[in-house]
Amino acid sequence: MFEIKNVTKKYKGEFALNNVTVEIGKGLNFIVGASGSGKTTLLKIMSGMEQDFDGEVSYGGKDIKALTNQEKSYFYNNIFGFVWQDFNLIEDFTVLENVLLPQYLKDDQQTKNAEKILKELKIFDIASQKVKNLSGGQKQRVAIARELMKNPQVIIADEPTSALDEKNSKITMDILREISKSRTVIVVTHDTSLISDKDNVFELDKGELFSSVGNKLVKTSEPNMRKNHSLSLKNAFSIARTGIKRNIGRFTVSTLSLMMAAILLLTTLGGAINTNSQDAFEKLIDTYGEGLLDLSIVGSFTSAEGTEGNEDDQPNADVSQDIGGLYEKYASDERVAFTAFLQAMDNISVTVDGKNYTVESSGNAPVINKLVTGEMPSGAGNEVVVPESFVRTLGIDNDQAIGKEIDFSVSMYNWDTGSPVLKDATIKATIVGVADTTAVYEYEDQMMEFSVDDSFFFSKTALDDLRNQTEIKGDGINFLIRAKSPADLISIKDELNEQGIVPLGRFELVEDIVRLNTQTTEQTGSASTTIGFLSVVMVMAIFLITGVMRKREYAIYKVSGFNNRHLNLLNVAETLTVAITGILLMLVTSPLINVATEALFSVNILNAEMLTKGMLLILGVAVIAYGTTVLAYVRTNIATALKKGDR
Ligand code: ADP
Ligand code: MG
Repeated sequence: MFEIKNVTKKYKGEFALNNVTVEIGKGLNFIVGASGSGKTTLLKIMSGMEQDFDGEVSYGGKDIKALTNQEKSYFYNNIFGFVWQDFNLIEDFTVLENVLLPQYLKDDQQTKNAEKILKELKIFDIASQKVKNLSGGQKQRVAIARELMKNPQVIIADEPTSALDEKNSKITMDILREISKSRTVIVVTHDTSLISDKDNVFELDKGELFSSVGNKLVKTSEPNMRKNHSLSLKNAFSIARTGIKRNIGRFTVSTLSLMMAAILLLTTLGGAINTNSQDAFEKLIDTYGEGLLDLSIVGSFTSAEGTEGNEDDQPNADVSQDIGGLYEKYASDERVAFTAFLQAMDNISVTVDGKNYTVESSGNAPVINKLVTGEMPSGAGNEVVVPESFVRTLGIDNDQAIGKEIDFSVSMYNWDTGSPVLKDATIKATIVGVADTTAVYEYEDQMMEFSVDDSFFFSKTALDDLRNQTEIKGDGINFLIRAKSPADLISIKDELNEQGIVPLGRFELVEDIVRLNTQTTEQTGSASTTIGFLSVVMVMAIFLITGVMRKREYAIYKVSGFNNRHLNLLNVAETLTVAITGILLMLVTSPLINVATEALFSVNILNAEMLTKGMLLILGVAVIAYGTTVLAYVRTNIATALKKGDR
């Protein structure tokens, strides 16, 4: 029994209901009145869809205004049934699927009961048809069947016949009259021909209760609030499966959007940046050798005159600079591949395995193009890297040279008096590496190549010994730094320049590439960010649009008794199904996708790491999709999403 006391509702200062007091009990009750007289407003207030009003409304002693969202959803699943002018069925679902909707929140699905009700309402033979193919009369009976499945105490019907023809109006009314024998049925109608003398009739006029006729109040019992009201995971997946079956298009769009977003993210996160500058640099290396990455640090040098006005890098004058401590600083630097001492040597003679070899002096500074075998001297002990040409002279392979002891006899220039004095020294050292000592020069647009055969590179310990013997003082030993990459080369060069040290090297060639590289990396970097951002926006947009399009569907779920918690679980089931399908689809089509990503982004996704990343990204994007969908149903208000039978 509804007890309505002094209910007043205003919309924008206008009375929709004005101090209405009425009691409505079991049986068939009609609410009549002109359009705009407040009938729908009264139903909304009685059913709890509108809780913002003055006055009091209770059902079976329960204050409707004070119902929590949880309690309301329980009421909509067990106590209140609703019948509407425009049916509010899920059009893509079949008759049976619609009728079972409120049942998913109960322990057992009562398909037996559904069968009985469908038979009573004469719609059993169309149970597996999609609702959208039915006539209005059939739809209204499906809607009534769905509500009867709740076995509700109350049926609230807002103009249930106004979209139907005369015959179907009568059929519908007869059904409502029949079910009112055991329940409270409240029908808002324009059609007074449907009303009989025995019915209770309440008339509203401009928001006021104008009359109540034949009101014999039959009280109803208190509502039972103890029934189970939850959605099992199994049922959530069951609804999700039905939804997918009935709306393959939407499912496909969702799945593809997740997959595409994940693949785009994969190409940006997976190191798609393949700039041409790397290739360009490799070409340069092919031409000039790896010595292109060298910085020579020397205590004094005479610059070649006027090299294209490059005064900053190579001044046209005798330069003398303090390079003490620089070797120690750069020997262990992260950007440095290796260091090697540039000690000029003369009169070299080497004894290996008892045989003596003379090495002709080139008058050049030592050169190393690259290490071909072994490693650079680590610094501990007397170690030496010898030229490949020397190993050839020995008549052995590079590998065989490693570990051999040499007796090295040399003359070195001592400049302490201001002019060079040759002094002799000898040392025993172990060969730890073999170097290609080819020097490449550009001379009058011609590439000149020659091997500097007297390029021996000693460890610090060995060199210190040699310098001791030749009485060379000062801690500034000339050396070269081989940078790991062009960027490293330029950064070390800049760093030295800042300290006032001028290193020697062919920097102009490399500098262009480094600058180009930084630029392209920045560009591809921002392109990646944009692609990543857009793919996430795409997913959000698609799921937001889908969610908004489904607002009416969500309202139908809610009016069937689903609360946000149930819808969250349904959302999990749906999104997970979409994500897993997306993952499977990605795996199956990965060879095809690979062709595309290879061509567009130079990314090969056909490996376990990339595919795992792809799966995780799909799941990540699915979380975003889930959250976006939440926005749609949390904000769905039954009363506004389901327009009532106003005329
Ligand atoms: P009925 O169902 O009897 O045709 P309603 O209860 O729908 O009448 O409306 C009663 C009055 O309240 C009308 O004047 C209507 O314009 C107004 N009204 C109803 N709902 C709203 C709303 N959501 N916002 C503003 N005015 C409303
Ligand atoms: Mg109305």
